[in-house]
Amino acid sequence: MSDWKRFIADPVIAYFSMEIGVSNDIPTYSGGLGILAGDTIKAAADLQLPMVAVTLISRKGYFQQSIDEEGWQRETPNEWFPEKTLELLPVKALVSVEQRDVKVQAWLKCVKSPTGGEVPILFLDTDMDSNDPQDRTITDHLYGGDNAYRLKQEIILGMGGYRILAGLGFRVRKYHMNEGHASLLTLDLLNRTRRPVEDTWDERDSWEPHRVVQQCVFTTHTPVTAGHDRFPYDLVQRILGDEIPLYLLQELGGRGELNMTRLALNLSRFVNGVAKKHGEVSQALFPGYEIHAITNGIHPFTWASPHLVKLFSRYLPSWGTEPELLVRVDTIPDAELWEAHLGAKAMLFQYIAETTGVSLDPDLLTIGFARRVATYKRGNLIFTDLERLLRIGKGRIQLVFAGKAHPQDQPGKEIIRNIINEIKQLQGKIDIVYLENYDMELATLLIPGVDLWLNNPLRPLEASGTSGMKAALNGVPNFSVLDGWWIEGHIEGVTGWSIGPPPLGNSIDQNHTDEDVRDLYEKLENTIIPLFYEDRPGWIRVMKNAIGKNAYYFNTLVMMRRYVAEAYFR
Ligand SMILES: *Cc1c(COP(=O)(O)O)cnc(C)c1O
Repeated sequence: MSDWKRFIADPVIAYFSMEIGVSNDIPTYSGGLGILAGDTIKAAADLQLPMVAVTLISRKGYFQQSIDEEGWQRETPNEWFPEKTLELLPVKALVSVEQRDVKVQAWLKCVKSPTGGEVPILFLDTDMDSNDPQDRTITDHLYGGDNAYRLKQEIILGMGGYRILAGLGFRVRKYHMNEGHASLLTLDLLNRTRRPVEDTWDERDSWEPHRVVQQCVFTTHTPVTAGHDRFPYDLVQRILGDEIPLYLLQELGGRGELNMTRLALNLSRFVNGVAKKHGEVSQALFPGYEIHAITNGIHPFTWASPHLVKLFSRYLPSWGTEPELLVRVDTIPDAELWEAHLGAKAMLFQYIAETTGVSLDPDLLTIGFARRVATYKRGNLIFTDLERLLRIGKGRIQLVFAGKAHPQDQPGKEIIRNIINEIKQLQGKIDIVYLENYDMELATLLIPGVDLWLNNPLRPLEASGTSGMKAALNGVPNFSVLDGWWIEGHIEGVTGWSIGPPPLGNSIDQNHTDEDVRDLYEKLENTIIPLFYEDRPGWIRVMKNAIGKNAYYFNTLVMMRRYVAEAYFR
C-alpha cells in the first residue's frame, strides 16, 4: 500500500482525459490525444506541479492490429490486468446510469520524474461484483460501442471522476478537460455551487454557472466534426436522468442535442486550441467564445531514441528536464550525430527484418509515415502517381508505414488496404513495409529510425500533430503540409520542408490535393534527394536545426509552463 494521501496535501489541477498513453503496457490510448495526455502528465511531474489525472481503465484496451494477406486490418482486444501493476484505492463513488446505481472504483498509477515530482493517475473502473452485469463493461473498450455506451462512459469519466476525487479528499484548483469527453463533470460542479432554493424567488436563479466557469479549463483538439460528441436529449434523459433540469442543460449544452464541446465552452474560463492555427480555426468554428492557443509538445525523455539520449546527455547534460538546452545542439560534432542516427536506423531495420523479413538498405533515404489512419491524414497520398514515384524514387528511397484505423472506420481501412496493394505493385522496385500494430513502443523505434518524416493531412484538419515533434527531437527533419504545429516550426530548407501552398483562411473545407501532390514529388526529386546524397554536411545541418530550432521549443515542459501561466492561474 503506498501512501496516496501525500497527493491530497495541496490543491491540485485535475486533468481529465478519456485516453491516457503513459507507457506501452497500459494500452488505454488510441493515438495523439492520449499520448499528449501522457506527455502532459510526465512534464507536470518533471515540473513538480500539483496535478492529478483522471481517465478510464479501458480493460480491453484499444485493440491489437494485424493485417491479413489481402490488406484488411484485423482487430483483437488488447486486454490488460490493472491488478498486476496498479494499486486499488479504498474509496468508491456512486453514479446513476439508466436509474441504476453504478459503483466506480479507482486504480492508482504514479508517474515519477527524476526531479522528484510525482503525478497520480486514477483509472476509473466499473468492473465490480456489486454492479449489474451490463454496467461492469462500461469501462472496457476505449472508443468502442454505440452512442449510448459512449454516454455511459462519459458519465463515469466526468461524474464518477469528480466524485472519486471528492471522496479521496482532493481539493481542486482547476478542472482541465482534455477534449469534451469529460464535460459532464461540470454538472456536478453546477450542483455543488448551487445556492439554496429557499434564497431565491425563482428556482432558476439558484444555478450559478459563472461559479463553475471559474474552475474550468477546456482544450479542444480537433476541427473534425466527428471529434465532437453529441447526444440526442431523449438518450440523455434515459441514461443520465435529471441530474440537472433539462432547460438548464439545453441552455448550456445546445438546444437540439447535448453537444459536449458546447457544454465545455460554456462552462470554462479558459479555452484553447492546440496550435496557433488551430486556435484560429476553432475561433471561426465557435464564434462568440474567446479561444486561445497553446501549442502541443512532446515529452523529450520519452521520445528520444537511446542513441540520441546518450549523445544529448554527453553534450547537453540535463537536457531531459531542461530541453531548452537543445538550442545548443551545435556543440555536438556532426559525425557523432550522424553515427547516433545510424544507430537508431539500424535498430529499426533489425526490427523490420525480424517482423517482415524485408531487409532495407541502410544507405538509402528512408521516409517514415505513421499515425492513426484517418482519411483526412491521406496516408496513401504519395502513391497518387506510381510512375512518377518510381522515376523519382527507384534506387533512391524506401518507405516505412504504420498505423491503426478505428474499427468502425471503413474508409480508413480501405486506405490501409490501398497502401498494402501499392506495396505489392512496387515490389522489387521500391522497398516499402507496413508495420503492424502501431503503438508507443513501435513509435519510439520507427520515428527516430527513418531519415525523413512525411505528413500530408488535408489542411486545416491536423490540429497540431505531435509525431513530427518526436521526429525533430531525433534529428529527423519534417516534410509536411503547412498545418498544425508545422506552421510554427517550419523554416523552408532550414528545419525541413513544406508540402503545398501556405496556410490560408480558416475554413475547414479547403482542398489543395493536386498542388500538394505536385509539390511533394517536385521537392522530393529536386531538393530532398539531392541534398541527402550529394551534400551530407548540408543534410546534417537540417538535422541539427530540427533539434535546435524545433525540439528545444515544441516539448511538453515549455507547453506546461504556458498552461500554468495562462490557464491554471487565470
Ligand atoms: C505520437 C503518436 C501519435 C500521434 O501522431 P500524429 O502525427 O500527431 O498523428 C499517434 N500514435 C502513436 C503511437 C504516437 O506515438
